[in-house]
Amino acid sequence: MFSLDGKSALVTGASRGIGRAIAESLAGCGAKVVIGYVHGEEKAQQVADGIIAAGGEAEIVGFDVGDASLAEKEVVALAKRLGGLDIMVANAGIALDGLLLRLKEDDFDRTFSVNVKGAVACARGAIKSMMRARQGRIVFLSSVVGEMGNAGQVAYAASKAALLGVTKSLAREYASRSITVNAVAPGFIDTDMTHELPEAAKEQMLQSIPLGRTGTANEVAAAVTFLCSDEAAYITGQTLRVNGGMYV
Ligand code: NAD
Repeated sequence: MFSLDGKSALVTGASRGIGRAIAESLAGCGAKVVIGYVHGEEKAQQVADGIIAAGGEAEIVGFDVGDASLAEKEVVALAKRLGGLDIMVANAGIALDGLLLRLKEDDFDRTFSVNVKGAVACARGAIKSMMRARQGRIVFLSSVVGEMGNAGQVAYAASKAALLGVTKSLAREYASRSITVNAVAPGFIDTDMTHELPEAAKEQMLQSIPLGRTGTANEVAAAVTFLCSDEAAYITGQTLRVNGGMYV
């Protein structure tokens, strides 16, 4: 599709779901991909092995993005070891759902630690090497609910909306170094995360999608890959919605 030959990329939360599809797509375009994971080293290694078997380059790195100072250090160390980091995709995320009156403060804090602070920490780690290289691509995984809101998802929706503010601010901060920063906002994508939703909620969501179906992880990965390509050099601070028309 696009050529990412000679580029190195980190994708957090890439042992399954959308992150896995992004890692495979970037590798398929020629990037050397580092598969970030927190639990399940074996699954992460399987993703890397699959990429290598297909002729690509991949390795794994395990750390909890919810520990911001650790995450930043890990990304800095990774960039140093690879001799630079061209692409950083902050995909790792959690959804701890619940109506506001039942929402636990700890769950709210953890959601922000992983989805916002963790993503920002990974970006901080990556930007240090991107500034030296005077080029780079950062993509944050937001969500349709960050723009629309969703009953029962106060913490998750707020965290995904926060990433849009982060995206716009970092885009302005680092444009002078040719580092682009964008967000992809998926709608209802068929992954383990959405399998956990109650059937009634899934049915209701499907009815609100003009294209009449859930999206696939590969369809989100294609959008991320485009934003990481040379062809997207003039796009920064934007949100690319991959939602079947659910929010326009
Ligand atoms: P998923 O639950 O299948 O994958 C999330 C990944 O993040 C997992 O590999 C998990 O191990 C990793 N992760 C979670 N906490 C982590 C931590 N503390 N440190 C490191 N890694 C951690 O979810 P998915 O559906 O593939 O979603 C991927 C991203 O896309 C998430 O940010 C999610 O919020 C976003 N998103 C998903 C949908 C959807 O419909 N599936 C819609 C909109 C946005």
